[in-house]
Amino acid sequence: MLEARIEHADNPLEGVRKEIRWAVQSLGLEPAVYEILKQPRRFVEVAVPVEMDDGTVRVFTGYRSQHNDALGPCKGGIRFHPSVKPDEVKALSAWMTIKCSLMGLPFGGAKGGVACDPRELSPRELEELSRGYVRALVHVLGPDVDIPAPDVYTNPQVMAWMVDEFVRITQRSAFGMITGKPPVIGGSVGRVEATGRGVVIAAREILRRLGSDLAGSTVVVQGFGNVGSVAALLASRAGARVVAVSDSRGGVHAPGGLDVEEVLRHKDLTGSVAGLPGARPVSNEELLTLPCDVLVPAALENVLHEGNAWSVQARLVVEAANGPTTPEGDAILQRRGIVVVPDVLANAGGVTVSYFEWVQNLQGYYWSEDEVNGQLEQFMARACDTVWRMAAEHRTSLRDAAYLAALRRLAEAMRVRGWLGQAEVPVWPLTPAEPARML
Ligand code: NAD
Repeated sequence: MLEARIEHADNPLEGVRKEIRWAVQSLGLEPAVYEILKQPRRFVEVAVPVEMDDGTVRVFTGYRSQHNDALGPCKGGIRFHPSVKPDEVKALSAWMTIKCSLMGLPFGGAKGGVACDPRELSPRELEELSRGYVRALVHVLGPDVDIPAPDVYTNPQVMAWMVDEFVRITQRSAFGMITGKPPVIGGSVGRVEATGRGVVIAAREILRRLGSDLAGSTVVVQGFGNVGSVAALLASRAGARVVAVSDSRGGVHAPGGLDVEEVLRHKDLTGSVAGLPGARPVSNEELLTLPCDVLVPAALENVLHEGNAWSVQARLVVEAANGPTTPEGDAILQRRGIVVVPDVLANAGGVTVSYFEWVQNLQGYYWSEDEVNGQLEQFMARACDTVWRMAAEHRTSLRDAAYLAALRRLAEAMRVRGWLGQAEVPVWPLTPAEPARML
């Protein structure tokens, strides 16, 4: 399984196809499950013209990939980034199918994106692009069809422009067509913190099963943005000692523990965690190999790789970012007995509270923050339990187990909906899963 992903490390779509195929075979499922899931059910490419501030018109290329809707309407973020490409969007939509299924949400997976650099756009141009994206795709979006959300370089303001455009065109107050909105127009309380909160719940749950405790553990967090800063703060409130954090400008290390509230104040004042008084400066590279119990990569993809995985000293890696570990890095960590909580589980708190937001929009009844956090707690703890049991049963890594659990539910939905045909299930040539050394 790991070998297969390594082989396709340069093409995320091929990589996710291999993962799905492996899980389908391991579970002895109908071949149609793989045939249906190996590509999105619908992939739309659109041209979005935007009148720039200088009066010229620039045409941006946008995509929406609706991977699968067996479990419900499609769900997934919209990314505004120069590197957005069709295969990347398709792979991200497949990961959303896996994540939603694993979490027990009534959603399929989707993802969207526009190839652009939003930092080069004025606020007016960004608004025009956001509205233009919805105008181009309005026929395939909606609260019962496909529900976008924020992703890299999109935020609640972008969601607000998008929902406004949708409501104007359709003349329906369909606020549930998008999540991650500002609370005043139907956003859920607790959504901003949800991913970081979920990361901490996942860390606590898996540590407990490893016979350890988050309280008293040492934690290192790479990336002090939305996800990383919340994860650091909540981990420290849960009794962990956060010994190092970083952002794009550098990191700080204090073996005795950082005061995370103070780090937040310092970042508010200076724009970075770097230069925090009383802490030792540390580079992002060194930070990943510091001694600690829990390492939380919460910034970028591919930061744990064959070049540094041998030097990681953590006992547990909790993937807050999407794809922070390369397949080669993953293989090394697994060989060394370092447990990895995969991104499809560790950062699923965001889509889970997006689901709560959608439910609240459909009901027109809004929950308190305690209700949101309490439900998130239950969803995350249940998914951790499922993945842990699956890993023990199939003797796999937690990543492979997450795929097995997700595929089992997804296949059942497709089967009862009559998508899988009547053909007898063949005896698959079984590829033995990598033995899990941590269990
Ligand atoms: P963000 O932009 O708020 O924060 C990113 C942080 O990473 C910033 O502190 C930035 O300075 C830092 N960073 C950038 N380059 C770095 C580098 N080279 N070294 C160290 N730090 C660097 O983004 P976010 O919303 O916190 O997302 C972080 C990750 O979590 C992404 O992979 C994202 O896809 C994933 N994720 C986010 C959510 C969510 O709800 N926000 C949900 C699921 C997954």
